[in-house]
Amino acid sequence: MLFTHDTVDALVFLAALVNTAPSRSHSDEDELTTTQQLRDLLDRYGYAGRRDGTERELQDVLALREPIRQLWTMPSEQAVVVVNRMLAEEGAVPQLVRHDGLDWHIHAVGFDAPLATRIKVEGAMSFVDVIRTEHRDRLRVCSADDCDAVLIDQSRNGSKRFCDVGNCANRMHVNAYRARKAAQA
Ligand SMILES: [Zn+2]
Ligand SMILES: [Zn+2]
Repeated sequence: MLFTHDTVDALVFLAALVNTAPSRSHSDEDELTTTQQLRDLLDRYGYAGRRDGTERELQDVLALREPIRQLWTMPSEQAVVVVNRMLAEEGAVPQLVRHDGLDWHIHAVGFDAPLATRIKVEGAMSFVDVIRTEHRDRLRVCSADDCDAVLIDQSRNGSKRFCDVGNCANRMHVNAYRARKAAQA
């Protein structure tokens, strides 16, 4: 395992959040436009803590998608500045906690903090882990030429190239096969 379990959980959730934005291969539609869709997303990833269920909360969460996507792809030197600023802005104070059957892990803001604040701080904390364990290259954008979904490569040999959301590995193999056929014809 490259990262701690709470970092992996946070990164998987962040990737899912970023990937709700319209992405050319799997969906041209925004998959996060209603408070119900937000609730479903949180439930799917067992996201604990405060939820307001308001339009305001949804908008605050949506506003995080682009900054998080940028964090995914920017060089470490730059990411460090952004991560430190995110933590400072929210007055993050790392605390070890245990809850809901999860063993010791870090929360840097309380359960009662607004959802977007918690996502932002947990996102920043997970990048702290990613950057200092020097596995930044395990965060990637899908290699399919028509997909911009983000992914986390947890494979042993670091060989994951395609996202899980767009059936991209299959699609690219089929495309490559057709291209070879066409070249032969
Ligand atoms: Zn927790
Ligand atoms: Zn993809």
